[in-house]
Amino acid sequence: MTAVDQAHPTRVQVLRSGSGGNAIFVEVARTRLLIDVGLPLEGIVRLLAPLSLTPSDLSAVLLTHEHDDHARGAGSLSRAAGIPVLANERTLARAAPFLGGARTERFTTGIPFAVGEIQIDPFPVPHDAAEPVGFLLTAGGIRIVVAYDLGEASDPLRERLPSADLILLEANYDPRLLGVGTYPWFLKNRILGGMGHLSNDRAAEAVVRAARGGRAQTVLLIHLSDVNNLLPLARDTVRWALEREGIAASRVEAVRSNGAGPLWEATAGAVGLPATVLEDAAAP
Ligand SMILES: [Zn+2]
Ligand SMILES: [Zn+2]
Repeated sequence: MTAVDQAHPTRVQVLRSGSGGNAIFVEVARTRLLIDVGLPLEGIVRLLAPLSLTPSDLSAVLLTHEHDDHARGAGSLSRAAGIPVLANERTLARAAPFLGGARTERFTTGIPFAVGEIQIDPFPVPHDAAEPVGFLLTAGGIRIVVAYDLGEASDPLRERLPSADLILLEANYDPRLLGVGTYPWFLKNRILGGMGHLSNDRAAEAVVRAARGGRAQTVLLIHLSDVNNLLPLARDTVRWALEREGIAASRVEAVRSNGAGPLWEATAGAVGLPATVLEDAAAP
């Protein structure tokens, strides 16, 4: 296990999340990853600026899957920054229209690998894409799980959640809002299905199971629908589920649809437990 440089705390920020585009920034010492690039290069430049970073400070891009709200900006960022795009073979093939001229590197779902200081464990999630994955990232004893665009919290995710310090988990919709909303039925059925998106209730269930592991966890709910969800509803559905179980150690926040999340920082302490700081993002 690598020791994390005390002068460089681990930093994580959801730069953008929602159907309008997704990008998640993770930094451990000098290794800086962007998970998904679902917005144009100019957007990434603007969102990295408050962190005093430019695209060329990044080490690599990781793709969860090829849907355009996750991959459409990956090629232009990769070319501009001179960094590789890492994904599994089927995702790289399907994302090819977005990746022209980009340097790509292949990983295998289920086989951990490293980028600089960060150990990356890509695990399968059920979603209607070629080979969608979530990521467990580990560095200096700090563990971060990223899982969004998934129809259900299946075993590979459930197994990884209890040991995480930070959980970035989809809470896409409230079933009642989806039911009465204006989406056409084919789309409602796609979202509701086991290969679609995770509801607030299913997210709550997964978070409660994870919290029973006893670890003090920070949960950021992401990829909220701007039509079929409300931020307080997503957040409170999960908070209330924890309260009902008498679990007080977990902290739950939700990231506004198509907005930026708070900055999460952790420093590996003497006993290996992270101290966490959440700051509200200044970006609109
Ligand atoms: Zn998505
Ligand atoms: Zn998707």
